[in-house]
Amino acid sequence: MNNFTYQRATDANSALRLFAPNAKFLAGGTNLVDLMREGVETPQTLVDITRAPLAEIQELPDGGLRIGALVRNSHLAAHPLVRERYPLLSYAILNGASAQLRNMATTGGNIMQRTRCYYFYDTASHCNKRTPGSGCDAMQGFNRIHAILGASPHCIATHPSDMCVALAALDATVNIASGSGERTLAFSDVHRLPGDTPDLDTNIHAGELITSVDLPAASSELPSLYRKVRDRASYAFALVSVAAALRLEGGKISDVRIALGGVAHKPWRAAIAEGKLRGASPTFDNFSAAANAELESAVPRSGNAFKIELAKRTIVDVLSELAGPGDVK
Ligand code: SF4
Repeated sequence: MNNFTYQRATDANSALRLFAPNAKFLAGGTNLVDLMREGVETPQTLVDITRAPLAEIQELPDGGLRIGALVRNSHLAAHPLVRERYPLLSYAILNGASAQLRNMATTGGNIMQRTRCYYFYDTASHCNKRTPGSGCDAMQGFNRIHAILGASPHCIATHPSDMCVALAALDATVNIASGSGERTLAFSDVHRLPGDTPDLDTNIHAGELITSVDLPAASSELPSLYRKVRDRASYAFALVSVAAALRLEGGKISDVRIALGGVAHKPWRAAIAEGKLRGASPTFDNFSAAANAELESAVPRSGNAFKIELAKRTIVDVLSELAGPGDVK
């Protein structure tokens, strides 16, 4: 048992004031408390933010939606405006974890959750993310769940979230407060690739607090789907997931969004595939060519080469379903 100081914040400002060196913000606790039990996280101070007034979902004047950082995942997935305008987000959240966990887990916490790499959780293993410079036992170990895109020689972990894959596809932005003011990050800039610093999961710094997530105004008639492929039907992390949206005009693709989960250290926006598809016809061949192009840089490990084909097939399948049976030749 590691001793720590418990502090309770009443709002974002008091949370920022109470933050100290080697502190962590505590919200739903569904990942942080597990990591503390395993000795992976050893904060000296926990700043409980659950009483801060950050649990609202509000419409923005431009037609977008602001989701407070403390909105529970279950509430967010069930919210009428989310179900009506951003069903992709609802689908993705409901594919994650269990009902009990979704009742506790928060929007901000979901973004900040850490990888489920087995070696990261096992303090007897070498892990550059947990202990920089110690090595990576996943490289030569059991790496079925690990990354095929954007990895580095130092870490091949994946980001475990479903919700974040949808937020990446929806071009969300994240609002962050700190002692020196407020800033907004595009969702694609929130999570990092491992590079030489796999211990850093995000570009959100110690002492910064996510206050809300903004969704841009929903494009009308933009059909979307979230497909999660996993080892069992529920309560499992994605081997591969695809969040996609597709709009057709005059028989051509006028808007397409594709984000992948389970394949990289961050939700992977498939920009190469999107670029190939914009303006193209919605054919099986075009979907396949776009998926192949996106996965061209994939690097398999001993246990996860299957993910490359799985990702390609899942992209093609999801896009074909969005285009409709009559439109895909
Ligand atoms: Fe650690 Fe990353 Fe290697 Fe997993 S893949 S053991 S998280 S360094």
